[in-house]
Amino acid sequence: MLGSLSAVFHSTAFTVARDLALFCVVLLWLGCAFWTHRDAKRRIDDLVLVWTATLLGLFPVVGPLAYLLFRPPETLEEARARGIELRALETRLERREPQCPLCRTAVDAAFLICPVCTTRLKKPCQACKAPLEPLWQACPYCAVPVKATGLRAPATLELDTALTAEIASKGNGKARAGRPRRAAAS
Ligand SMILES: [Zn+2]
Ligand SMILES: [Zn+2]
Repeated sequence: MLGSLSAVFHSTAFTVARDLALFCVVLLWLGCAFWTHRDAKRRIDDLVLVWTATLLGLFPVVGPLAYLLFRPPETLEEARARGIELRALETRLERREPQCPLCRTAVDAAFLICPVCTTRLKKPCQACKAPLEPLWQACPYCAVPVKATGLRAPATLELDTALTAEIASKGNGKARAGRPRRAAAS
């Protein structure tokens, strides 16, 4: 019985089978470590962290499993693609079509009024008739300063003259009414 067992253990077939099994285990172990290293390189930008992950992957079975639990969810390639996509979306949003502030109709940059609701969008330059933004102080096409015209300008002008007139009349009134008022106060 023992003799036959020892014969089995010392047979060439057993040695070959044992070496093959050992070889497979070592191959699996190194393969796992190599996979961990390659995966870490795809996901981690820091070389020190990559080699830390590789060392972790060298622990049989537990190492690669622990790495799987804590590895970054996104590869560097995916992160880069997402960044590019995000930037493209941002530029598309920035370059969106101008629209009427009132009825949201898509309008051309050269429109003076909204063709749908007739809202005043821009005013023409007095010199070259180019459409100007309401905040612009001078025409960027012909460099002529924007004169205070339009709907609000006359009103402010009128208000100005009215105020000047009032101040002037008050000044006169003060000069005339100065003495009696002071007398009344004392
Ligand atoms: Zn409109
Ligand atoms: Zn102009």
